[in-house]
Formats: sequence, structure tokens, C-alpha cells
Amino acid sequence: MTQEILKSGFVAIIGRPNVGKSTLLNCLIGEKVSITSPKPQTTRCQILGIKTLADAQIIYIDTPGMHREEKRAMNRYMNRVASSVILDADVIIFVIDATSWRGEDEMVLKKLHDAEKPVILVINKIDLLADKGELLPLIQKMKDKYHFTHIIPISAKDADNTHHLEEEIANLLPEGPQLYPEDQVTDKGVRFQIAEIIREKLIYATEEELPYTTTVEIEQYTEGEKLIEIGAVIWVERQGQKIIIIGKKGARLKKIGIQARREIEKLLGNKVFLRLWVKVKENWTDDDRALRSLGYE
Ligand code: GDP
Ligand code: MG
Repeated sequence: MTQEILKSGFVAIIGRPNVGKSTLLNCLIGEKVSITSPKPQTTRCQILGIKTLADAQIIYIDTPGMHREEKRAMNRYMNRVASSVILDADVIIFVIDATSWRGEDEMVLKKLHDAEKPVILVINKIDLLADKGELLPLIQKMKDKYHFTHIIPISAKDADNTHHLEEEIANLLPEGPQLYPEDQVTDKGVRFQIAEIIREKLIYATEEELPYTTTVEIEQYTEGEKLIEIGAVIWVERQGQKIIIIGKKGARLKKIGIQARREIEKLLGNKVFLRLWVKVKENWTDDDRALRSLGYE
């Protein structure tokens, strides 16, 4: 640690699924620390993104979405994480989509009501607005709903106005020391990142509703002289899902493997040999013990 940090703290990024929380985190960090996709519920566990500035260290917490349905163990888990994150954070960023306000947004807003800490409203996806004048009535409506510390329109996709957002966040942080080395961008280990890359490719490759019940476990990680050997198991709930992932003559699994390997090689800066298996573990989303055995504490 070479420099004196004057401010540091935790910043929770909350909002309903699909508003662009993970995209924003990656944009603020400048690296892909959280996977994104057009399907809701891509982010399942809490991910820290760390940004070290000259005089501040911002530790972002990307949260899974909050849901009305709490039927299954996975949903209960996600809701617990999302609520506790509001209590733990120093600053809260509430992300909404400039093009649509829904009942789910209202639910998240409700959770904020007792949060006695600064809340920044981020209106994302302004690149989708044909006329920026549409923002004014939205801003007024949001002002009436809550006493936000700031209201900042951005496009996470185009990194539009995100630097301004970062400055305002840094201004709101409490005084504090540097908590992580300045070159560290996430709290997650390399195995976790590899598993997430595979899961992302899997989500993109399967049009069916798979991701929610699918998890990836890294079974083998061996550094050889010329390449790193990685073995991963894709756990699914049903035989039918296994067949979908594998595809005709294994074509889909092969494609997932190639795409994942390329990105893992970039992450590790090394040649990689990746082996993927698909295994069935029945009803694991309904079973807290099974969740724990897969590392979702
Ligand atoms: P999360 O569920 O809130 O984490 O949302 P994601 O970050 O996974 O993003 C959901 C979808 O919205 C993805 O398809 C993103 O590419 C897209 N998206 C995110 N930010 C923007 C933005 O600023 N503009 C546009 N047009 N799309 C965005
Ligand atoms: Mg996400």
C-alpha cells in the first residue's frame, strides 16, 4: 500500500433485475467483475468490485435482484442478501431503467425507506431515450417519491456520465483507511470467476429457462508447464436440461466450452484446457443443504 487513503466505504448497488446493475459495476471498475445478460437473475451471489482512487477506495456490492416470489430456497437466499446489503452499506445506489418503471422498482424503493444513509438514484439506459427531455418528468416524479441525495442519469453501456456518478459517490464516503490493495478489483478468487464465465456462456447459449437452476462447480484446476487444466461440472436439476445443454451430438456444450475457454485464457493470461461435464442433481434449488454444498452460504 503506497498511498494514504482518506475515505473508504461500501456502496450497495440495488434495483430490480435487468436495470443494468452488473453492467454499471463493470463500467465503474473498468473490468468485468460481474456477469451480465438480458435475462433476469443472472447475478446470484454478492460480488464486490473494488475501485481505488487517489484519495478514496470505493467498495461496490453488486446484489442479486429482489423478488416478489419467495417460494424457493434460492429466492429466499437472494432476498436475504439484498436486504442485509442495505444495512451494511455506507452509500446506496438505487438503479432504475429510464424507459420503464414497474411494481418491482416500487418494492425496492420501499426497502429503502428506513435506510438512514445517502441514497443516489441512478437513471440508467438514457441512450435508449429518443428525447432527453423525457427525463425531466421522470426526475420530478422520483423527487416526489423519495428524498434522494442525488439523481444522476447515466448510460452504463456507453459509460455516459458515470465518471460524475463516481465523483459524487466518493464525496459521500466516510473517512477511512484503504481496505484492499490498490490493484485488487474483486474479492472473488479465480475459481469463482472461471465458474461465472462458464455460467455466462451457458446462459447465452441456451434460450430455455435454464440459468436459474444451473450452477457451475470447478472440480479441477491444475497448472501445468504449458497450460492450465480446468475441469468443471455444470449442475442441472433435470435430465431434460442436461440434454438441452449438451445439444445435438454435443454441439452446444462444445460451443459453450470454446467461448468460455477463450475468455478464461484472457483472464489467466495462459493457455487453458477446459473440460466440461453436465450432471443432474435433482431439486437442488429447493434444498438449502444442497445449496450450501455448492458454496452458496
Ligand atoms: P442487472 O440484472 O441489473 O445486473 O442487469 P445487467 O447488468 O445484467 O443488464 C441487463 C441488460 O441491460 C443487459 O442486456 C445489458 O446489456 C443491458 N444494459 C445495461 N445497461 C445498459 C445501458 O446503459 N443501455 C442499454 N441500452 N442497455 C443496458
Ligand atoms: Mg446483475
